[in-house]
Amino acid sequence: MDIKIEQECPQCGAPITIAESDRLLSCPYCGVKSFMQSAGAFRYYLPPPDGEEDAAELLYVPYLRFKGNIFLVNEAGISHKVMDTTHLGFDLPGLPPSLGVRPQAMQVQRLLPETPGRYLRLTTKARVILEKVIRLSPMRIEKKKQQITGKENDMVYIGSRMETIEYSSHSRFLHRAFIGETVSFVYLPIHVKDNTLLDGVTKSFLMRREQASGVPLRGASFNPRWQVRFMPTLCPRCGWSLDGEGDCLVTTCSNCDTAWELGPQGLKQVHWQMVPGDRGTALYLGFWKISAHIPALDIYSFADFIQRTNQAMLPKQQWYDRVMSYWIPAFKLRPKIFLRTGRQATLGQWRLSPEEGHVVPNLYPVTLPAAEAKQSVKVILAASTASRKSIFPFLPKVRLQDVTSTLVFLPFVDKGHDWYQPHTAASISKNVLRFGRNL
Ligand SMILES: [Zn+2]
Ligand SMILES: [Zn+2]
Repeated sequence: MDIKIEQECPQCGAPITIAESDRLLSCPYCGVKSFMQSAGAFRYYLPPPDGEEDAAELLYVPYLRFKGNIFLVNEAGISHKVMDTTHLGFDLPGLPPSLGVRPQAMQVQRLLPETPGRYLRLTTKARVILEKVIRLSPMRIEKKKQQITGKENDMVYIGSRMETIEYSSHSRFLHRAFIGETVSFVYLPIHVKDNTLLDGVTKSFLMRREQASGVPLRGASFNPRWQVRFMPTLCPRCGWSLDGEGDCLVTTCSNCDTAWELGPQGLKQVHWQMVPGDRGTALYLGFWKISAHIPALDIYSFADFIQRTNQAMLPKQQWYDRVMSYWIPAFKLRPKIFLRTGRQATLGQWRLSPEEGHVVPNLYPVTLPAAEAKQSVKVILAASTASRKSIFPFLPKVRLQDVTSTLVFLPFVDKGHDWYQPHTAASISKNVLRFGRNL
């Protein structure tokens, strides 16, 4: 679930509500558009009540927020889970381990240099916390008959349906990836008053002061590196206004047909192409075409891939010269659909002939960055194989070499409830695509 953020317009100061995934801010009052950019993760806080008298004495406790899909490959198959959680990043037992639904239930605010209070430092590395959160996440395996085997499995009820959840799979995985990740900080204000620690939002009791004895509770002031910068949405090449919706990560210039990815260092030009559509094309969806060699599996060409993964087709002669590419959806999708769409585009790549890109009005926003797509290659490879035993055991050794990425937009036609890609037969339900915007 997306959290809502109260954001001041950098131009006119008007209060705007934006979504967590938004990187492009369009002010409805003054019309100015800007990109939001920061050196690290975005930082928000749960605002204390209005008129807080001791605001300057508030201490802010860091929580890490992770949002994305976890994929886990083991002998039993590929399991996945949508993760959306906050986790305490400061070592003090007695503080709530998670913020639960509080960031969703109230509008969080962006941390600013002028926000009064002091900030406790993260005491555990983000990677370590993520690792722990993932390990504690129950993973669901698709295949029914594989669910009920194995003595470590446990049966639990989810809603009205009984599901089998494999808790132990994390210890025996062949590959694990966290994709589409948003990592941000959400700070919880606390009050240290007399002998007690109070929740700064609800004023409820957290612990007695002596329970935190030995824990430094001084905090530091706002670090200038946390500051979010606002950049004009102008094409770095020609100065034209760039196109894009709030949550897009790649913007295009309709004047010089360039595409730009929004990264920590600003705008970076993206090599992009498109497979031309026809009059029936309703929309273009972007895919990251990641070309790479995989020496551990001896996969260099598309023909190698067809043979190593035991596909039920014979490689054509020209496939031996076609470098193998993994086609990763460049937009967020529920994990199961992400795997299916990536597999369909990857297997159907020989039918695609991309050409230079020209900006058209119906390019769907790119919401999954190239770096995440590269991390998905092993998962899409696992999802595309027709024979697990020829690929899965080698996954821990798989390293990509000579990696290049190109953003390719593919044409989709409107089939009522679905968007359908004629070359690869990939089909995505319209609801699923809409829902993915909130992942
Ligand atoms: Zn404004
Ligand atoms: Zn331009």
